[in-house]
Amino acid sequence: MDKYDSVIELAKRRGFLWNSFEIYGGTAGFYDYGPLGAMLKRRIENIWRDVYVINEGYYEIESPTIGIEDVFVASGHVGGFSDPLSECAKCHEAFRADHLIRHIVSNPDTLCCDDLVRIIRENNITCPECGGKLGNVYEFNLMFRTFIGPGLKRIGYLRPETAQGMFVDFPRLLRFYREKLPFGVTQIGKAYRNEISPRQGIIRLREFTQAEAEIFIDPKDKTHPGFDIIKDYSVMLYSESAQESDKGAVEMTLENAVSEGIIAHQYLAYAIYNTQEFLLRVGVSPERLRFRQHMKDEMAHYAIDCWDAEILSGRFGWVEIVGIADRTDYDLMTHSKVSKVDLSVYMEYDEPKIVEKLSIKPDMGKIGPVFKQKARSIVEALQSLDVDELNKDEIIITVDGEDVVISPDMVEVKQVSETIRGENIVPHVIEPSFGIDRIIYSVLEHAYREEMVEEENETRIVLGLKPEIAPIQVAILPLLTRQELIEPARKIESSLRKKGVMVSYDDSGTIGRRYRRNDEIGTPYSITIDYDTLEDATVTIRDRDSMEQVRSRIDTIADTVHDLITGNIAFEDAGSPVEK
Ligand code: AMP
Repeated sequence: MDKYDSVIELAKRRGFLWNSFEIYGGTAGFYDYGPLGAMLKRRIENIWRDVYVINEGYYEIESPTIGIEDVFVASGHVGGFSDPLSECAKCHEAFRADHLIRHIVSNPDTLCCDDLVRIIRENNITCPECGGKLGNVYEFNLMFRTFIGPGLKRIGYLRPETAQGMFVDFPRLLRFYREKLPFGVTQIGKAYRNEISPRQGIIRLREFTQAEAEIFIDPKDKTHPGFDIIKDYSVMLYSESAQESDKGAVEMTLENAVSEGIIAHQYLAYAIYNTQEFLLRVGVSPERLRFRQHMKDEMAHYAIDCWDAEILSGRFGWVEIVGIADRTDYDLMTHSKVSKVDLSVYMEYDEPKIVEKLSIKPDMGKIGPVFKQKARSIVEALQSLDVDELNKDEIIITVDGEDVVISPDMVEVKQVSETIRGENIVPHVIEPSFGIDRIIYSVLEHAYREEMVEEENETRIVLGLKPEIAPIQVAILPLLTRQELIEPARKIESSLRKKGVMVSYDDSGTIGRRYRRNDEIGTPYSITIDYDTLEDATVTIRDRDSMEQVRSRIDTIADTVHDLITGNIAFEDAGSPVEK
């Protein structure tokens, strides 16, 4: 049993994760979050909100999970959101063709179908399930298709990412943000991808949760107003050149990474900073985190620079959990083209610009009587001439295939200076895209440990979750099920609930068993109520990780526990130490 199996076994047994539709045999790519899993997920999502919505000020919106066809035609998903599929001719199992040759070539996802077939044939690769012959490779679109309303006329798709809902709301968002760049918008919600053969638990799901931010910026200014404060922050970067030369990831400051041209600009560097801060806060282990730059042939053609936050997992190696990209103006441009709605922003210059301009004023009083019904076309044609053509003794223009001579007195031409206060631009988009389910798996794997407790000659399983994300924050454990202990225990329980702390009340089994039960679901603190409680109005608080204990006063217990969970006080300061 490797760590993945241990984590999933624990997650299933204790109500974090269950296979969906289990009583019907389940189906790959779908997982339920049980009571503890759903609580853990909400807490992680709320920390994400704290970072992006509260601290960055990028408001959250909620758009439908079903989109109309136009949206995904414009975004390119109808035409190109696919993976290469090969089916076994014998057992008809489907496989990701690029995954079948992962051990042979280093960048299989950049190959076309013909190359994939050739490599499969040359290397005699057969069906991993039954050994049968594999069929041709073709592109399989990953979107779930449906129909909107009765009949088959209006095609809809389950969204493959939350991002498009934010792009199509751009005109409304722009007005909300008072027509000024930069601004950001966020969305947390379900995304759907009909993955060909998901075999990696919650790493590859067909229905999963994304948390995405779309940050709309001025393309001419990619300096970030907050960069100065975070420029000395260090990150582990696995750049394109390090990958090419087979070197490992290198730790460096964001300032160096930008000035050496490794990260394209400050906005991306700032997004990497925020991503790392968030991941560490929810409990991703810093030693198992790196940022990998996309190789040129891996990156979408419109993107300038992309970085994936990757975590090291025991079974799957390095896994992408967050994608960070400069998507340029691609999305707004394509939506503008398909919807025929202008998605530009009028940007005022800091200083107005004075430009010299040609003023062309045709004299209708002279042109009209001479050219009659052709007059309008002549006026239009005059407007498109340049200064040299207009300054000739005879101005010759072509109207309806016929050359027409205009005398200079029919048009007044002069140089004028014009004050221009701004221009319309289409913003660029910086997008950090988080896969919440992959983050949850990373957090569980990085938090899971088995350790020997010498005094008890027993191995304990500990889920070392950060107190801020632990589903249950405190366990209330009366030493015995006696009325005189139950009463103060219930009182403490209710004072903590009133304070917004999630508690569990557990009075069955030995105290040792109860500690173990709580250790393995990550409960950071346990409060034991014993006979000393009745004497001196104190209780024992036990720290999950160190197993140290302190005696703390009942009358302030709710505040003390709240301070412990939020990290306001250290465990030693929660009471007086208890000798073991
Ligand atoms: P992408 O749009 O492919 O860059 O995906 C953005 C993020 O969504 C990734 O970094 C993953 O964390 C997550 N993600 C993508 N596909 C899946 C999937 N099939 N199952 C779970 N998470 C996914």
